[in-house]
Amino acid sequence: MKSFFYARATDLQSALQLLSERPNAKLLGGGTNLIDLMRENIEQPDALVDVSGLPLDRIEASADGGLVIGAAVKNTALALSPLVRERYPMLAQAVLFGASGQIRNMATVAGNIMQRTRCLYFYDRTASCNKRAPGTGCDAIGGFNRMHAILGASDSCVATHPSDMCVALAALGAVVNIVGPNGERSVPLTEFHRLPGDSPQFETVLAPNELITGVAISPIAFARHSLYRKVRDRASYAFALVSVAAAMEVREGKVCYVRLALGGVAHKPWRAFEAERALTGAPADRRVFLAAADAELAVAKGLTYNSFKIELARRVIVGAFVELANRS
Ligand SMILES: Cc1cc2nc3c(=O)[nH]c(=O)nc-3n(C[C@H](O)[C@H](O)[C@H](O)COP(=O)(O)OP(=O)(O)OC[C@H]3O[C@@H](n4cnc5c(N)ncnc54)[C@H](O)[C@@H]3O)c2cc1C
Ligand code: SF4
Repeated sequence: MKSFFYARATDLQSALQLLSERPNAKLLGGGTNLIDLMRENIEQPDALVDVSGLPLDRIEASADGGLVIGAAVKNTALALSPLVRERYPMLAQAVLFGASGQIRNMATVAGNIMQRTRCLYFYDRTASCNKRAPGTGCDAIGGFNRMHAILGASDSCVATHPSDMCVALAALGAVVNIVGPNGERSVPLTEFHRLPGDSPQFETVLAPNELITGVAISPIAFARHSLYRKVRDRASYAFALVSVAAAMEVREGKVCYVRLALGGVAHKPWRAFEAERALTGAPADRRVFLAAADAELAVAKGLTYNSFKIELARRVIVGAFVELANRS
């Protein structure tokens, strides 16, 4: 591992100052992803600015009935928060489906949003990878691509975003709060992560001199009836092949409100807007759920080893809505 400068930020100003003073600096949350990448020499920052001790570790009910979640809130605290469990059960479930208890105790909300892909070729320095070394090619496209994307991929990169938490945040329409030298700004989570296009090395819209301060979720009454389903190769401690965050309100047999996002299928958490459109106002029955899944997956494209994900996604979506319909 390359040696690096380390500083612990005490407040937002000092964090931004340290970032601006050191061009190749990276922020450090719980370190559960970044330190692994540094050990493998995939990431080689000259400096680490530790933001895990900033006063951003609170989950607060906002005046409008929503929630504001600080960037340094640990994944465990988020999953166990009574406010989160009551108002947005899909979010608590998604976090609990991720990683292990020990990792969730260390990992932060901002670190989870910014975590990097688990594509094996990205971690293998002998492999060609446009994300790690732009312009070198992508060994996953002709290689073992079982875990890779079926939606929104490009000829440059077919990696997926590994977060569970972000899938729920995408479904909930969360907003990422950011601060930088020019002040504060907010970006919807669905627009925060990028599709790979021809520059997969750029994964988010966060500038190198900015940091995430937290995430805000608006009040969504029907999100109290929501769920997260994750299909993976092992029952625990594995990344999603396909995951689904879903919420639905049914009145007089018809879907009046619905949210759906998919994980494990794209370079970003995938908000299923096509499926939501197909469901809204339609009868809450299995036939409609299938048609909605098909509408979303019409543009899905399989690779050599991951075409099964298309049918898998279809079934997980339908299963989630059947369960929500039964509950209501
Ligand atoms: C074995 C293993 C299994 C896992 N399984 C899952 C899983 O199933 N599902 C899942 O969702 N996750 C999983 N994870 C990933 C885990 O959730 C992440 O490692 C974790 O969320 C990263 O959080 P962190 O605080 O440790 O981030 P760090 O490692 O500290 O940082 C990660 C990135 O976030 C950036 N960052 C940190 N704070 C900020 C900030 N305030 N603003 C901007 N950028 C910031 C860092 O610069 C870095 O680029 C797994 C991890 C491991 C090691
Ligand atoms: S899929 Fe993306 S991350 Fe994986 S090898 Fe190809 S370019 Fe690299």
